[in-house]
Amino acid sequence: MDFALSAEHEQIRAAIERVCAPFDADYWLRKDTEGGFPEDFHQALAASGWLGIAMPEAFGGAGLGISEAALMMHTIAATGAGMSGASAVHMNIFGLHPVVVFGTDAQKQRWLPPLIAGRDRACFAVTEPNTGLNTLGLQTRAVREGDHYVVSGRKVWISSAQVANKVLLLARTTPLEQASGSDGLSLFYTDVDRSTIEVREIQKMGRKAVDSNQVFIDGLRVPVADRIGEEGKGFACILHGLNPERILVAAEAVGLGRAALRRGAAYANEREVFGRAIGRNQAIQHPLAKSWMELEAAHLMVHKAAWLYDQGQPCAAEANSAKYLAAEACWHACENAILTHGGMGYAREYHVERYQREAWIPRLAPVSPQLILCFIAEKVLGLPKSY
Ligand SMILES: Cc1cc2nc3c(=O)[nH]c(=O)nc-3n(C[C@H](O)[C@H](O)[C@H](O)COP(=O)(O)OP(=O)(O)OC[C@H]3O[C@@H](n4cnc5c(N)ncnc54)[C@H](O)[C@@H]3O)c2cc1C
Repeated sequence: MDFALSAEHEQIRAAIERVCAPFDADYWLRKDTEGGFPEDFHQALAASGWLGIAMPEAFGGAGLGISEAALMMHTIAATGAGMSGASAVHMNIFGLHPVVVFGTDAQKQRWLPPLIAGRDRACFAVTEPNTGLNTLGLQTRAVREGDHYVVSGRKVWISSAQVANKVLLLARTTPLEQASGSDGLSLFYTDVDRSTIEVREIQKMGRKAVDSNQVFIDGLRVPVADRIGEEGKGFACILHGLNPERILVAAEAVGLGRAALRRGAAYANEREVFGRAIGRNQAIQHPLAKSWMELEAAHLMVHKAAWLYDQGQPCAAEANSAKYLAAEACWHACENAILTHGGMGYAREYHVERYQREAWIPRLAPVSPQLILCFIAEKVLGLPKSY
């Protein structure tokens, strides 16, 4: 067993830190205040080839695994870019995994190089207002008409749909009452045709730089050539991407938590009250020390889940646990960083309140903590399915 980063991993971390360096805390504070997609940040990562880290070499990627992708996303968040920086590229890193696994060579050739080069920007449209976490109940319909499908329906919370030119879309091709098991949904990767897709931004708590949206689809024409895998097997296609996505979100959460902890510890050393640094008080030290431990432990679970995935072994329990533990550890680290700052923790210029608002995201998405606990209870402990 070896817990050290390899020389290659150290190089990845250092290189990502170099790319992120010009995008400092004030840059992300400004983005969080004014909004607007962090185009220059996205392009900086694309220009240095990082968007293809986990894409096949044959299509312009680096062909590395989820372990390396998780290291990259952790590093981005830990530099202080937090979820604003991570979410700006998250979808590019592993979102098109269903294409890698189930796409034809022609589809890979058509879709992967422009995504890696940063020319295309993709969003991922699964969640719907009426079905929530019950993905198998999705209502958006795709009806086949010759060599096209015609898609109509509604999606919600779709990140970066304001700026994306491509969408990975899960829609129903078999009416719910005729569908059996997990069949009946199909996966498409297609153009965002704004004449048939209306995107309305949701005003939300944090991560203003990366928009979240209601999406109204009315008669979108999708060529059959844009379907990934077999008709009706879309759920099985996205299942392949779920564990890696949870691992990446977990890595991002640990990074965000570490950024908060760093600021908390620095302030504890600097700030003097009652004639001495507040960090001399155990009441300040202990919560920060506890957060360090929680983040370390969560990161070990991220490493284990990523390692299992890269070995081709089952990792659903570990990927879900990593997401849960990392989100909780991140949340507590942000909270402790704010408490350490006292009143200044509530001021934007100290950055930790922004981190706390962003810490909600890995807690809530892409799957809720409750459903992770339900999953572990059922699949690991053998308790009855409760959802
Ligand atoms: C910032 C942000 C970005 C997002 N980006 C995207 C995106 O790009 N693409 C996309 O498709 N989606 C995206 N989402 C959506 C996200 O994945 C969903 O919000 C999440 O999956 C939860 O679904 P829901 O909000 O409909 O919750 P619901 O399904 O309505 O659940 C509400 C609550 O009830 C609980 N609950 C429901 N059933 C049970 C049960 N049986 N047992 C216990 N508890 C239960 C849930 O755990 C949850 O706490 C994003 C969300 C956020 C907040």
